[in-house]
Amino acid sequence: MSKSGKCVYCLNWSSNLTHDHIISRKWYPNTTPSTVEKWTVPACNECNHRYGVIEQELLIKMGLCMSSGNPKSSGIAQIALNSLDPSRARDERDRTARMKLRKRILGDIITIRDSISSGFLPNFGPQDGVDYGDHYRMIKIPADLLEELGQKFVRGLTYKLENARFITQMQSIEIYFAEDQKVKWVSNLIKNAGTKVCRGEGIEIERAVGDLERVGALYRITIWGRWTIYAAILPKE
Ligand SMILES: [Zn+2]
Repeated sequence: MSKSGKCVYCLNWSSNLTHDHIISRKWYPNTTPSTVEKWTVPACNECNHRYGVIEQELLIKMGLCMSSGNPKSSGIAQIALNSLDPSRARDERDRTARMKLRKRILGDIITIRDSISSGFLPNFGPQDGVDYGDHYRMIKIPADLLEELGQKFVRGLTYKLENARFITQMQSIEIYFAEDQKVKWVSNLIKNAGTKVCRGEGIEIERAVGDLERVGALYRITIWGRWTIYAAILPKE
């Protein structure tokens, strides 16, 4: 593109803006109709690259938890597995990288005997109707990556849905991961006052703006029917 302007994410001026996918291209399940535009926003090279690394890490770790039978996450677990498969490497260098990645990801998997009731992301605990045998496997996911990506989504979506609006230094974005039933008032508010945009089956964005005391906007972003991110845009104190 080689266009200059402000990066939607870090707000710095760049003389070489890229088109960054708000939701990574690879994150759309294979049930997504080809007519769905995979939204992009202008971003600097550094942000594009930095988020790309986070998206890859989370696609693998969250993807491994996804059911392939659900149309909302169809094909996602397979992408995660494929990226860890050395036999799919393009060349020797790629093979070494895959082996290293595989070792690291496997090192983040822990096996426990008893079910635990806390410490996991909402909706990512033991699932109904699944026979886990006598042990559970869990994967460690750094909370700061989830938070950072939540921030990215909100900046990108605000730009896309609000006529190229930037979230400035005068505002902050708060990210929450919560069970729907524990934040019922927020989900009801979004349901009643908000609008919903879907990018195919796997990506649902709900958003309520204006008329909310002090809050610029509320978001609920649901990825693969399972991973829910709540976000609020607030004025800085
Ligand atoms: Zn940037």
